[in-house]
Amino acid sequence: MSFDPQAATAAYIDSLGADALAKAAAYTTGGHWLLLWNLLVSALVAWLIVRSGILDRISPKLGARRFNLKAFVIAATYFLVANLISLPWSLYEEWWRELSYGRTSQPIGDFLGQAALSVAIFAVLIGLFFVGVYALMRRAGRFWWVWSGGLTAVALSIFLLAGPVFIEPLFNDYEPVPAGDVRDALVVMAKQAGVPEDRLFVYDGSRQSNNFTANVSGIAGSARIAISDIAFKGASLDEVKAVTGHEIGHYVLGHVWRTVILLSVLSVLFFFVADRTFPWFARAFGSSASIGDPTGLPVLVFMVSLFLLFAQPLLNGTIRKGENEADQYSLETVNLPDALATALVKTAEYRNPRPDKLEEVLFYTHPSVERRVRRAMDWKVSHPQ
Ligand SMILES: [Zn+2]
Repeated sequence: MSFDPQAATAAYIDSLGADALAKAAAYTTGGHWLLLWNLLVSALVAWLIVRSGILDRISPKLGARRFNLKAFVIAATYFLVANLISLPWSLYEEWWRELSYGRTSQPIGDFLGQAALSVAIFAVLIGLFFVGVYALMRRAGRFWWVWSGGLTAVALSIFLLAGPVFIEPLFNDYEPVPAGDVRDALVVMAKQAGVPEDRLFVYDGSRQSNNFTANVSGIAGSARIAISDIAFKGASLDEVKAVTGHEIGHYVLGHVWRTVILLSVLSVLFFFVADRTFPWFARAFGSSASIGDPTGLPVLVFMVSLFLLFAQPLLNGTIRKGENEADQYSLETVNLPDALATALVKTAEYRNPRPDKLEEVLFYTHPSVERRVRRAMDWKVSHPQ
């Protein structure tokens, strides 16, 4: 009997079992609803901070002239207070819900400690970013929104390229991949991708998440391949190869740049829309700030949340395209369609593998696992070993 890719795909997905499939579907659908709840939380946070007048009280204390310092302190304070107000929600969404679905085993103390570290780091980064945005609003004239888009592009590039290399080690331990079959295989693959041999790491991803994952990041000398201990311990050698092939595909095909370009274009569009509609939103939240006034930041950030919600399908579509290309890259270079399929099935525990087409288009950052496994099976048919 000849190989039937459709039946093989169905068998792979069904191998999860009915309970796990139902759980994955509930987890995924609940995640879509969280988008809406997040927007409401963001509105509530903006409203509370505007009403409290806390940011208005910072301005007079810093005097009239040091505008940049004032913008920094206001933006950093806003970020700290916003995170404090939404802490109960973050605890539910990022910790309790993950725990109840078995996606994390992190103790609450460790979660809170790491959340505090992350908020501290981002308060500084966000503070600096908005110093730039407010300075451009003041000095760049009518077209400040174009310049602010440019600033976003630069900030994002630095963050996406350098972040994983400089920030992630603050949250996890990165150890060289120990000698053995996995290391030997990774060395060969890293060489093809131009990643230095001493930059292959296993990290304790299990500290935060039980998800099966790996990634490639950085540029040139700082590029590195990192694989979660969950994947390192739970995967066969072939699965590690197939997954790493996928991640190297992202890296070699420069998908991070596509994301930076799209986000930069979107940020120009956002700042343009914000320039025209800010007063309306400010009034709705009871703020008298103009867009160039840092005390109006809570309103501006709410507008970002709203804008990003509408931009989701476009962003997701772009990312899904990259995921397809990375799968294709893995198949072409590593040629292990069955190992790719079994590794993908492990990610279906936290991504419903059989969504509606509309659900996939609107919400999925990755093509459905069913579609991806099917591609691997079709590849298998056309490329017999
Ligand atoms: Zn990917």
